[in-house]
Amino acid sequence: MKTIRELNILNELSASLHTSLDRESIFENIVDKTRELLKAEKAAIVLVDRYGRVVDFYTSMGPAGNCKHLLTGTLKRAMEEITTLRTDDVTKEPAFVGFPPNHPQIKSILMVPMLLRGEPIGAIIATDKKGGSFTETDEDLLLNLAFHSALAIEKVQFYEEILKMASTDGLTGLINHRTFQEKLQIEIDRARRFGHKVSLLMIDIDHFKKFNDTYGHTNGDEVLKRVACILQDNIRSIDLAARYGGEEFAVVLPQVSLPGAIVVAERIRKKTEEHELVFNGKKEHVTVSIGVATFPDDASDREELIDNADKALYLAKRTGRNRVCAFSEEIVNGKHEPNPTNV
Ligand code: GH3
Ligand code: MG
Ligand code: MG
Repeated sequence: MKTIRELNILNELSASLHTSLDRESIFENIVDKTRELLKAEKAAIVLVDRYGRVVDFYTSMGPAGNCKHLLTGTLKRAMEEITTLRTDDVTKEPAFVGFPPNHPQIKSILMVPMLLRGEPIGAIIATDKKGGSFTETDEDLLLNLAFHSALAIEKVQFYEEILKMASTDGLTGLINHRTFQEKLQIEIDRARRFGHKVSLLMIDIDHFKKFNDTYGHTNGDEVLKRVACILQDNIRSIDLAARYGGEEFAVVLPQVSLPGAIVVAERIRKKTEEHELVFNGKKEHVTVSIGVATFPDDASDREELIDNADKALYLAKRTGRNRVCAFSEEIVNGKHEPNPTNV
């Protein structure tokens, strides 16, 4: 029989889970309520993917890394078998792998799987029952809590998926035009506040129409994906690569001034030129032209920065393609001599 206290805790959890779409706060809520409901010292939530690999781990003890080792032993086995685990002394479990140095000692454990339509999506773990052992009633309560939690987690995952779809380009996985505009604005605002610079690269594939006409649209799409990978592989984690539209890309480089941006642009240009493509049994290469502009040196706001990087890009196109041009109209590392009459 559930007591009023226990029902209240479950109701509170259920209500708060249905109003939040924030992963961290939902996890925090689940572990807090698990501890409260079961009078446990600590609690944790583990999420696994469909291959049983741990994809998320949140504990009431702080950083999750400190008890991942458990997942290689007792809990891993319990999770694979989708069974409940209830023991007064986890160290006596046959599959227990031992605690790492400095790990707080844990004795009693209660773990129940979280299921969605019969499939395991993870588990909830309570450890060290205050003043006793976990009981069958505790197990029943935690299963109830896991049921509500699984539904809330599914909702969050769905919401995160929608957010991702709305902000990224489906073909390349890069951020889309709208998100690029938002992020660039954020970087410019930050640069203004801290007196930093932000550089922008506008990148366009050369003669892409001809490539499409020769090899077809599907192979053209493959090229767009490859170029997107080259961009991602050649920037820092704080930089942003976007699909600006069609066969045009943009890269935002926070806290990078013009000379640094030209180095990045030149690296991208060279890597693209060197990248070997094989279509219809034929080796092919594509090249890109890149325009570079820097805030605040070349522009005073976002629109002007984009316009001026675009002007530099068209200078690169007009002066031979497969080259990097800065808005300052200096030709950088190009293979061809600049044609000043086109400037
Ligand atoms: P330039 O060197 O002057 O940039 O020449 P270009 O042929 O690349 O430029 P243009 O703007 O004439 O052609 C762009 C081409 O990009 C035309 C269009 O078919 C192709 N394109 C745009 N978006 C996509 C896409 O999503 N997939 C594929 N395969 N092609 C695309
Ligand atoms: Mg083009
Ligand atoms: Mg274009």
